Amino acid sequence: MPDPAKAIEALARELPGRVTTDPGALAAVAHDASHLSATAAAVCRPADPEEVVRLVRWARREHIPLTARGAGTSLDGESVPVPGGVVVDLSGWSGVLEIDPVDRLVRVGPGVVNADLQAALRPHGLFFPPNPGSWTTSTLGGNVATNASGPRSFRYGPTRAWVRGAEVVLGTGERLTIGGRAAKRSTGPDLVSMFVGSEGTLGLFTELTLALAPLPARRAGLAVPLPDGRPLAPVARALATATGLGLSAVEYLDRGCAEALARVENARLPADRALLLLEVESADEAEETRHLEAIGATLIGLGIPEAASVYPEADRLWTLRGQSGTALDRTLGPRVREDVCVPLSRLDPMLEAIAAAAREAGVPLYLYAHLGQGSLHPNFAIDPARPTAARLREAVLRAALRLGGTVSGEHGIGRVKAPFLPGEIGDGGVRLLRALKRACDPDGILNPGTLLSGEAAP
Ligand SMILES: Cc1cc2nc3c(=O)[nH]c(=O)nc-3n(C[C@H](O)[C@H](O)[C@H](O)COP(=O)(O)OP(=O)(O)OC[C@H]3O[C@@H](n4cnc5c(N)ncnc54)[C@H](O)[C@@H]3O)c2cc1C
Repeated sequence: MPDPAKAIEALARELPGRVTTDPGALAAVAHDASHLSATAAAVCRPADPEEVVRLVRWARREHIPLTARGAGTSLDGESVPVPGGVVVDLSGWSGVLEIDPVDRLVRVGPGVVNADLQAALRPHGLFFPPNPGSWTTSTLGGNVATNASGPRSFRYGPTRAWVRGAEVVLGTGERLTIGGRAAKRSTGPDLVSMFVGSEGTLGLFTELTLALAPLPARRAGLAVPLPDGRPLAPVARALATATGLGLSAVEYLDRGCAEALARVENARLPADRALLLLEVESADEAEETRHLEAIGATLIGLGIPEAASVYPEADRLWTLRGQSGTALDRTLGPRVREDVCVPLSRLDPMLEAIAAAAREAGVPLYLYAHLGQGSLHPNFAIDPARPTAARLREAVLRAALRLGGTVSGEHGIGRVKAPFLPGEIGDGGVRLLRALKRACDPDGILNPGTLLSGEAAP
């Protein structure tokens, strides 16, 4: 049995100046945004891909697990370390290495924060479409490793659709270049996609090549108060299937979420009603006027008569909307928050199942949603450690699967939902995933316990 303290000393000799066991540094990486936490033995900040290779080889030799970390904002324990393992902090890899407006791509270090990338792209008239609620803090390494989505995924799809290539260090210590600069390729199964959403369990990204979209000339945000009791699913379907509205996001906050968010400083949102939050992209002022008129008429047709508040800078609305979770943290404290996604055609029974689960457990429900994507975040005011909480979560996830949906629309599986992944991908899927894991990480050193449960740390 290797002596862990001696192993960490050996790592500090192998990568001088890159390893810390300072209690403050360990405390800073003990959590993500879930309710879980664990204490690592050390934090390592490798400076280049060759140092990542040496770190991985050391971990294989010493049988010590590694957990990659960007900003640590994941919600299901994806970036919570294995006790006694090493956190690989890649948040310092924050360089935008190249912006190519002709190939419409950007090469970045995995530690670049999503909002910083958007700011760097703006002068080039380009943007990176996925904008998770955490966009002001989360990193592109984390966004890719969890296949994050955001409001704009309504029009542009999830992160997966925007990753062209990556440099990866596998759990074997091998450096791999996958994908590349071409706009498309048809060279067998898509290896890039295989690593998207892999939650640091197959390899560590040291560089990412991301596709970009042209920045629309105008982008307005709308906050539309909803009449009490208005059924949501028909609204979602009507807005998702309408043409000529210029919509790039269709979001929803129930009244409890709107009230909680209104307490956030400078929120300036209507607080006494459930809200639809929309984004409209237009080429010029005249087109924006046409879009706003068409949206107004569509909403009136849906029985939603009240005028919208217009935010000329939609990003402000999304920064605010991204604080919904934090606002509920303040209002509710620890709670069960879910992340299911169902086809829009099955939205009604999914919403009913969520309401029924809350009723049966006797707990208040707070719902916010990427409504136009069928992507729902029900929050239940109950301590996640209570047995009722586990039953409630299970009822919601089972309903999502029964309705042809998924147990994670965008946050990922992490440690919290690992027991539910087999229910979605089946025995065959689990066998395939385990085979992939063995091929990329034969000693199981990369983030064990995440994605696949029942995996012992090495
Ligand atoms: C307020 C708030 C709002 C949010 N809103 C959304 C939302 O709208 N949509 C959404 O999808 N998510 C959302 N999230 C969840 C979270 O922000 C995303 O999952 C985000 O992509 C995580 O990025 P991160 O940099 O914090 O990654 P981390 O939490 O540090 O890591 C996430 C996972 O990625 C792995 N990883 C990180 N870097 C690398 C790397 N270089 N190589 C390999 N693996 C790596 C980690 O090991 C871990 O498994 C939200 C979270 C918060 C707290």
